Amino acid sequence: VPRFNAVVLGAGGVGKSALTVRFVKNSFTESYNPTIEETYRRDIFLDGERFTMEILDTAGAEQFTALNEGYIKAGHGFVLVFSLTYESSLREIDDIRQQIARIKGPDANVPIVVVGTKLDLVHEREVTRDKIRQLVNEWSLPFYETSAKQNWHVTDVFQDLLMQMRDRYKNE
Ligand code: GDP
Ligand code: MG
Repeated sequence: VPRFNAVVLGAGGVGKSALTVRFVKNSFTESYNPTIEETYRRDIFLDGERFTMEILDTAGAEQFTALNEGYIKAGHGFVLVFSLTYESSLREIDDIRQQIARIKGPDANVPIVVVGTKLDLVHEREVTRDKIRQLVNEWSLPFYETSAKQNWHVTDVFQDLLMQMRDRYKNE
């Protein structure tokens, strides 16, 4: 079974763990533990073929340490997570995106999906869809708005990433 490493990156508290755990275990908790860093594994089917996805849910990605550099080197694909309720978390995505380009090389064609979380917190929303559209168009990256709590569009994120990884690495 082909195996891909996906790495989930973004500021603290944006919902990286909630997104990952919703996808892997189909559960959600309100509790927040910023220090949890764990690798999960899930098999997914795409066009009738089975793939194993290893998903590294990182902690503290906002400080660019040697550790993060190692994650980026080892990752086949990346989920860049910000919170729709926290404008500055979107700016961190841009930093991470540039780090990935620097480490992988600007022409590496790296599989990436951008995710805005906490879509269910409608009244706390700080980032407009227009603002995001403008940025992801500039970056040429696919984008999803999700809720781990309500299980909205979570699977779409990982399906999209898997499709990109399969296409990117099929001849290697
Ligand atoms: P991380 O630091 O990026 O891993 O953030 P967590 O996944 O631990 O989430 C931080 C907090 O936001 C936790 O209290 C979660 O329950 C909450 N949270 C995460 N995703 C959602 C969501 O989609 N909706 C709501 N309402 N809360 C969320
Ligand atoms: Mg976490």
